[in-house]
Amino acid sequence: MQTIFDLQNVSHSYLDKFEALKDINLTMTAGEQIAIIGANGSGKSTLLLILDALIYATSGEVYAFGNPVTEERFNTLEDNEFARYFRTQVGFVFQNPDVQLFSSTVFDEIAFGPLQLGLPREEVIKRTEEVMTMLALSNLRDRAPHTLSGGERKKVCIASILSINPDVLLLDEPTGGLDPRTQLWLTELLQDLAKAGKTIITATHDMDIVEQVSMRSKKSLPALMLVTFFRRLRCCGLTGGSSLLAGSSSSRALRSQSVKCRYGAKSRR
Ligand code: ADP
Ligand code: MG
Repeated sequence: MQTIFDLQNVSHSYLDKFEALKDINLTMTAGEQIAIIGANGSGKSTLLLILDALIYATSGEVYAFGNPVTEERFNTLEDNEFARYFRTQVGFVFQNPDVQLFSSTVFDEIAFGPLQLGLPREEVIKRTEEVMTMLALSNLRDRAPHTLSGGERKKVCIASILSINPDVLLLDEPTGGLDPRTQLWLTELLQDLAKAGKTIITATHDMDIVEQVSMRSKKSLPALMLVTFFRRLRCCGLTGGSSLLAGSSSSRALRSQSVKCRYGAKSRR
């Protein structure tokens, strides 16, 4: 299995004084579904931001798809093939939809990513329509995202990432603020995407969804690694103190064949 992310002794401090992560070692492989669990302030969002190359390790090394992820590589105006490739492969769903949404209509929001990829206009429209149908957003296509409910905005955020069709999804507290029905819809969608081969990394403190969004289980062999990870985090004095990776395989049958057909993982480098 291809290694997607490899973190070696990664630490991150904000403004050189607020330590958020210390000495994290972690490997994530293609097709895995992983939950990052921890109390508020334990560093979950920081870890996801590092995985998405939005912030960078203060020390240690981060590799994505076998390539080093560094500020020099991403924060440059020069054409950078790896950075472009990375942005087509990794999608981030922010905890707060208002951070992510900026277009004047739902349609434009979902079409923005494919447009940025330089896809032909017909393909952009086709993808946008498909994703809107898949997430039952078609009736909201002309609405301004900021006028939607929290659950609807979260759906639009997810749709705007799926329209890029990344192989790796990073989700920060995806069920936060959702009603039980929308939570169920979301976890089932994530399971469908997992079965279609996506790598899904979910930061959450919602223990109810952990089993549904993660393959790594206390009952399985990787649990040994997870306990090690847990201890390491605790030893390192992460603010929240109780972070670990956990979860279990889901046996639920594939609900939506269209997810698999249209959004199955692409072949990788
Ligand atoms: P979590 O997502 O688990 O709640 P975070 O990654 O958001 O945790 O935060 C980890 C630590 O980093 C916390 O102590 C938090 O106060 C700190 N932190 C997060 N973002 C910033 C920032 N922009 N500036 C300074 N400190 C920050
Ligand atoms: Mg957070």
